[in-house]
Amino acid sequence: MISAQLRDAKVVVDLAALKHNFRTQLAQLPAGSQILPVVKANAYGNGLVPVVNALKDEPAVGGFCVALLDEGLALRAAGVNQLTLVLGITPVQYAPVAARAGISLTVGDVAWLKAYLQLAQASQLTTPLKVHLGIDTGMGRIGFTDPAALQEAVALLADPHFEFEGLFTHFATADSADDQYFKAQVAKWQAMLAVVKEKPRYVHAANSATALWHSDQVAVNYVRMGISLYGCNPSGRELTPTWSLQPVTALEARLTFVKQLKKGASVSYGATYTAPTDEWVGTVPVGYADGYPRSLSGGSVLINGQRCPILGRICMDQFMVRLPQALPVGTKVVLIGKSGDAEITATDLADRLGTINYEVLTGLSDRLAREYR
Ligand code: PLP
Repeated sequence: MISAQLRDAKVVVDLAALKHNFRTQLAQLPAGSQILPVVKANAYGNGLVPVVNALKDEPAVGGFCVALLDEGLALRAAGVNQLTLVLGITPVQYAPVAARAGISLTVGDVAWLKAYLQLAQASQLTTPLKVHLGIDTGMGRIGFTDPAALQEAVALLADPHFEFEGLFTHFATADSADDQYFKAQVAKWQAMLAVVKEKPRYVHAANSATALWHSDQVAVNYVRMGISLYGCNPSGRELTPTWSLQPVTALEARLTFVKQLKKGASVSYGATYTAPTDEWVGTVPVGYADGYPRSLSGGSVLINGQRCPILGRICMDQFMVRLPQALPVGTKVVLIGKSGDAEITATDLADRLGTINYEVLTGLSDRLAREYR
C-alpha cells in the first residue's frame, strides 16, 4: 500500500509518551522484571521499526513479540537481533526460515514438532530452532492443554534441532473486574508448569492487563506488554489503570475545503444530512479506507479545542464536519488526540464503534503516513 506523504492527514506517534509508558510501568513491576514489547500489527498501528528502535536500548527490554514470521523478519532486516518471538503458529514448512534468522517460534502441539524434525533432518538444517511452548490454560486459542502431551513435547525438544527457550500462556479475562476465570487459568498454568522439571529461560504469562491488575497473582518477570505501552487502557473503561498512561497515537488532518452550505442543501452519499439553516462546512481528507470507519458517521472531531459534528456519511477518503464559523483551508482537525482542553481517545472511538481500542489503533491504514515526535 502507498503511504501517502502529499496529503493533509497523518498518524502522529509520540515516542516520548511510549517511553514514558514503558518506564512508569516497569517501575511498578517486581525488581528485575523484563518487558517483551508486543509490536505485532505494525506495533498496534504505530509503525513497527520506529517503535522498536525507540525501545530496543532500554535495559529492561528482553526482546520483542510479533504475530507473524514476516514481522520478525522485518525486525531482523532493520538490524534488531534481540529475542523475537512469533506468538502465532507458523506453518511448519516456513520454520527453517525462522531457525536461520534466529527467530523464536510458538509451538502448541507434538505433531508440529515431529513434522519439523522430519523437515530439518531431510534438509540437513543445523541451526537449532528456538521454541516457546504455548500452554492453553483457558484462552482456547492455541497450545497444550494436556500435561502428558506437554511432557512429550519437552522430551522432543531435547533433540539438537531445537533449543527449548520458553514456556508461556495467555489470559482471557485479565482485563475484567471479575477475576474468577483468571484465577482458574492461574491454577491451570501452575499445574502445567509443574510438569516441566527444567524450566527454560523465558517463562511468561502476563499481558498488559495482567501486569496492571494481577501482578500479585502471577509471576510477571517477563511481561508481554502491548496496548498499555501505546497508552490505552486494556479494559476499555472497566478497570482503572493504577498508573499514568499517556496516549501515543494521534490522528490529525487539515481541512481541504470550506464552504457555506445553504439551508436545505444536503451532504454526502445518501443525502442523509440536510442543513436546517445556513452553516459553515469543512471537508476532512480522511475516510474509511484510512481506518476511520463509516460507522463513525454521527460522531465528531476537534478543531481549535471545539467539538465539530460529522455531517452525513463518511466516504472512502473524505467526510464533512460542521464548523463553528468560516475557517481557512488548512485548519488542523484532530480525529484522535488532544486539541486545546478537549480530547478524543481511541477508546472513545471504540465505544462509538462497539469495539475495543486495540481495533481502532490497528485499523489505521498504512495509507496514512506516520510522523514521529
Ligand atoms: N500476548 C499474546 C499472546 C497476545 O496475543 C497479545 C495481544 O493480543 C499480548 C500478549 C499483548 O496483549 P496486550 O496488548 O493486552 O498487552
